[in-house]
Amino acid sequence: TTFLSPLPRNLFTVNSPNVVYTESEINTKYTYRTTLVNEVADGKFEAVPKETVYDFKVERKVPKTGMMLVGWGGNNGTTVTAGIIANRRGLTWDTREGPRAANYYGSVVMGSTMKLGTNAKTAKDVNIPFHDVLPMVHPNDLAIGGWDISGMNLAAAMDRAAVLEPTLKARVKKEMVEMVPLPSIYYPDFIAANQEDRADNLIQGSKASLAHVDQIRQDIRDFKAKHGLDKVIVQWTANTERFAELIPGINDTADNLMKAIEDGHEEVAPSTVFAVASILENAPFINGSPQNTFVPGAIELAEKHNAFIGGDDFKSGQTKMKSALVDFLISAGIKLTSIASYNHLGNNDGKNLSSHKQFRSKEISKSNVVDDMVEANSVLYKKGEHPDHTVVIKYMPAVGDNKRALDEYYAEIFMGGHQTISLFNVCEDSLLASPLIIDLVLIAEMMTRIQWKAHAIDGATTKEFGNFHSVLSILSYMLKAPLTPPGTPVVNALAKQRGALTNIFRACVGLEPESDMTLEHKLF
Ligand code: NAD
Repeated sequence: TTFLSPLPRNLFTVNSPNVVYTESEINTKYTYRTTLVNEVADGKFEAVPKETVYDFKVERKVPKTGMMLVGWGGNNGTTVTAGIIANRRGLTWDTREGPRAANYYGSVVMGSTMKLGTNAKTAKDVNIPFHDVLPMVHPNDLAIGGWDISGMNLAAAMDRAAVLEPTLKARVKKEMVEMVPLPSIYYPDFIAANQEDRADNLIQGSKASLAHVDQIRQDIRDFKAKHGLDKVIVQWTANTERFAELIPGINDTADNLMKAIEDGHEEVAPSTVFAVASILENAPFINGSPQNTFVPGAIELAEKHNAFIGGDDFKSGQTKMKSALVDFLISAGIKLTSIASYNHLGNNDGKNLSSHKQFRSKEISKSNVVDDMVEANSVLYKKGEHPDHTVVIKYMPAVGDNKRALDEYYAEIFMGGHQTISLFNVCEDSLLASPLIIDLVLIAEMMTRIQWKAHAIDGATTKEFGNFHSVLSILSYMLKAPLTPPGTPVVNALAKQRGALTNIFRACVGLEPESDMTLEHKLF
């Protein structure tokens, strides 16, 4: 078998006194320019340009990396696994519409480009694949493993998911039969009762315990050793859990959370146990579902251990569209007054969400996604004013993974007029989520190899290189309810999220943010 796993191509170098390449690192001096605003008398402002100089250090060696999925035997887990295998082997397969070839469509890292600059001779834009901006892991090289409460091998689980074409499944089946999820922890109260019949692959015990944390840590170490890996990224793509109650003394601090796990407290969710185990193994942990896995104690634990975490809830279809469309409407000066979002889906995720407590987690994560855009526009909205927003999800077995999303956006336009935008979005949910799973792994891994040092934060200089904050808000583009460092603002607007991602990557190689000013084409 030939594996298609291209090495980093070093497609470009930056020729600047601020950028130095060594064998093992890219070292950059970068001037970050922002604007500080002072409130002066009578509701007026004074804007003061500010500059901070940072050193960025990027480790160039691409590590051997593994991805461990919690819920590996689910629709997302099986689909992303089959997709990576198909890409790795460069597979093509027949469909009723003709042959299809493996691709990474829907992945920002693998499927999109970034403007590097302007061609010095022709003055045209030069665009390069996102994957080539920094020395990133290639998804074809990922070792894949994980846990599931259902013990089905991945080939059978892929059939159960009913997402991929039979001709494609036939080509990856042999490899996937050999892949069997590790036993997992199952606390029945956290997911829908209708999931019980698939729970046949369990680690003993039905509430949190240190033994569970230790077993998961051991699983991560074993996986690392078995595949000779430098790094493992763990991602929750298991069922949506109910919210855990936030209880002072139980999950409010790192120490209390560890004590609560030791005591088997019933408000510690399986996803939190996985997060804790990953943090203690220094494996970045990303939560792809909406529940509050990252209770304050879990965030504090990550900070204490300098471990990376990210979440919550993959932003794949309806919400991605929402965070682009609402950004557009409000930025266009149009007053959005209501959003009605309705879904029906027939996969196991839909079945789980037909239970009220689990639906509630999803409803919360889907509901806050326009807050920042509304709050930013004090011309259209008075303080505290908000568009009406309703989210409905129904389970409809017949449509399987082919989720339907119907959205009505109702807005007030010039002189009391109205605009109604009605969207009908149909697609295989798991084919949208799988590339996000890949992006989250690749970007989280990249962030473990970037360090910074400031030359001046209010006059002071940091002496040592440090990591980015434990909470990787740079992953926001892929997530519906982005987790940010405690006390920092959440950005939901899709264009801003992409801007943060691309411009932080650019800064790491000493390039200015994409400004789109193109003065070179405007000033003659
Ligand atoms: P799925 O139900 O097909 O897969 C979930 C898997 O998790 C199942 O195989 C189940 O057996 C397993 N599981 C449940 N509890 C577990 C535990 N404690 N430990 C290990 N495994 C466990 O669902 P899916 O369609 O793959 O979606 C997975 C998650 O991703 C859901 O929570 C869903 O809400 C979320 N999500 C999906 C999308 C999308 O577009 N597909 C978007 C956003 C969020």
